[in-house]
Amino acid sequence: MHFIITVDTEADDQWRENRGITCRNIEYLPRFQELCERYGFIPTYFTTYEIAADPDAVKTLKPWQDNGRAEIGAHLHPWTTPPLASEKKSEHCFPSELADEVLKNKLINLTEIIEKNFGRRPTSYRAGRWGFDGRQAGLLSELGYLADSSITPKINWSKESGRSERVGGPDFRLAPLGPHRLASGLLEVPMTILFTGLIKKEKSAWSKKFLALPGGWPKKIINRLFFRQKWLRIFANSTLRDWEQIYRSAILNGLPALVFMIHSSELMPGGSPYARDEKAVEHVYGQLEQIFGLYKKYGLKGSGLSDFARNYKN
Ligand SMILES: [Zn+2]
Repeated sequence: MHFIITVDTEADDQWRENRGITCRNIEYLPRFQELCERYGFIPTYFTTYEIAADPDAVKTLKPWQDNGRAEIGAHLHPWTTPPLASEKKSEHCFPSELADEVLKNKLINLTEIIEKNFGRRPTSYRAGRWGFDGRQAGLLSELGYLADSSITPKINWSKESGRSERVGGPDFRLAPLGPHRLASGLLEVPMTILFTGLIKKEKSAWSKKFLALPGGWPKKIINRLFFRQKWLRIFANSTLRDWEQIYRSAILNGLPALVFMIHSSELMPGGSPYARDEKAVEHVYGQLEQIFGLYKKYGLKGSGLSDFARNYKN
């Protein structure tokens, strides 16, 4: 099994709208990179426009890419990627909500600034706020991308606010769990979100019925009792047991890879709502050591997302 570590590499605290853009969290990344290297894993940094445009951030990240110790992919935050004229800066919209022409130009500008400042064209991608759609898949293939990791199986973003007209994000409730080829040829490698409760088989009739339910408290209760849906992400209450259960569910469901995700800003005290102080960041590092140690022990093979896509056989 492969272990794909993905880092949404972006400005500080992007959960607060209307705040200025600062990229201080990148100064905290070397500790994370060293940890990945210590375990022989290769992180993929999905990089936003503001990070690729920041000379200090590039100075930190580029050597890791150049020495084959990390991959630089692309991460589209519509609110920081030019052209910005058509939408209000304050709106954190889903990329899937953008008009065709605006979406295309943003993807081109993002790809070009990464190519210019990192000296290599990105071939892996994640949409901001997981707001992926078929148009992005088509455009990314045209731009030479190999892989995307924006799909969050089981999750419905359509009720989340995006633009003020409230189109909402995509609905991934019934999306496949494992890597699969999209119509454009792009390899989709979804975020790992698995059932870890009494019912773990994702293809069972019960699972399908549960997934199709709309959100709300009955679904939450059924989840707690039977499914225990878990993301391969670190939260304040995460424990070693979570990483073990996710691994076992992945084996049971025949997954060839686990996709872990973190925001670069979660590694800086006060950089995100997930880690408001030093103690919270130390909890994150404690969990990272547990995840990496466990998956190394289980023999998982570290892989950048594009390398995984290059070697993937259907
Ligand atoms: Zn993001």
